[in-house]
Amino acid sequence: VMALTLIALTLLAFSIANPLRLLAVSASKMEEPDVIEKIKKVPSWYFEVDQLKRVILFGTVLLHKRIGKLSLQAHTDLLTGLLNRRGIYENVELILSKSNQVAAIVIDIDHFKRVNDTYGHNVGDDVIRLLANNIKQGSRESDLICRTGGEEFLALLPDTDMKQAAEIAERLRKKVERMPLPIPENITISLGVTCFIPGTEQIDSILKTADDALYQAKHEGRNRVVTKIPPDHPLKKDTN
Ligand code: GH3
Ligand code: MG
Ligand code: MG
Repeated sequence: VMALTLIALTLLAFSIANPLRLLAVSASKMEEPDVIEKIKKVPSWYFEVDQLKRVILFGTVLLHKRIGKLSLQAHTDLLTGLLNRRGIYENVELILSKSNQVAAIVIDIDHFKRVNDTYGHNVGDDVIRLLANNIKQGSRESDLICRTGGEEFLALLPDTDMKQAAEIAERLRKKVERMPLPIPENITISLGVTCFIPGTEQIDSILKTADDALYQAKHEGRNRVVTKIPPDHPLKKDTN
């Protein structure tokens, strides 16, 4: 009888203490993505644990919502709602892992300082926003569109080769020339285009190649698309 009582007491003590231990472990890892599911599974067969579980669950759900909101804010450009530079770096791995070939287009408004100087900074902001909308409208769901700086944008296009990317860039250039604006003149953009095979080069060197192409477009008179093949690209080797 004593042995059975001892076993029963041990089991009872375990079933009282175990939920508390599980809750304590979850509470120490509140920020982990799967913690909410773990808390939900904690057996809460007596009142005190049930109350504790409710409070911890409530706090954890709230924390996860806040983290999600802050993370979205940290990756989003306030003026345009596009991704910012940090957002690109956060999302680029996903694009690279799913594509055989990716194109990068960098876009910069021509003589934008003049727009600001003539019509004011607020009008300049409106122009940036309108251009951002236009770029976004012409893009696919899978494209990563980012405002990299003041009046500069980057588009990373999965499964897109150089020819297709150059056509997309040229279409955008023509569209922007005719884009209705709240000022009595049009703007133009210059675009640098490159493409790469994921895994062959670092993203920074790819962006550098696209920037070089953009620089050339500016140098050659602006309002144009320049393409540049990265040094390690098979296309480059074919042409050698
Ligand atoms: P370029 O054709 O060589 O690109 O000439 P640019 O005048 O566009 O080039 P630059 O990079 O010298 O000037 C960019 C200007 O963009 C400078 C700054 O006044 C303006 N700018 C940067 N960020 C913002 C912004 O958030 N809002 C507005 N309205 N203007 C900005
Ligand atoms: Mg610029
Ligand atoms: Mg500019």
